[in-house]
Amino acid sequence: MPLSNRKSKIASLLLLAALALLALAPLFFTDGTEGKTREAVVTVDGKIIRRVPLARERDEIFTVSTPYGENRIAVSGGSIRVEGADCPAKICAKSGAISQIGEVIACLPHKLLIEIKEIK
Ligand SMILES: [Zn+2]
Repeated sequence: MPLSNRKSKIASLLLLAALALLALAPLFFTDGTEGKTREAVVTVDGKIIRRVPLARERDEIFTVSTPYGENRIAVSGGSIRVEGADCPAKICAKSGAISQIGEVIACLPHKLLIEIKEIK
């Protein structure tokens, strides 16, 4: 086998190895929010009422009473949602569950905000 051919074979093997490493890279460098510790920060009128760590095994239901009305909030499986509220449109309850950093549920009539943040 001519030397040049062998060289290019080695080069292509190296390339394959590099590609394989790239394919495996997501296993070592998890991006997104999966590996991060998150908490839900509940505010009313801009004041923090409660911080709830969103661990997967945590299940909790609590009620937030605001001067404007009440929201029943449910935490389960690493996500949080408004389960019930006495606001007129119930947009907060209809928003469903949130779990990713930066996601927000707002109940405008109650000036209530739930925001997912990373715990640092
Ligand atoms: Zn609401």
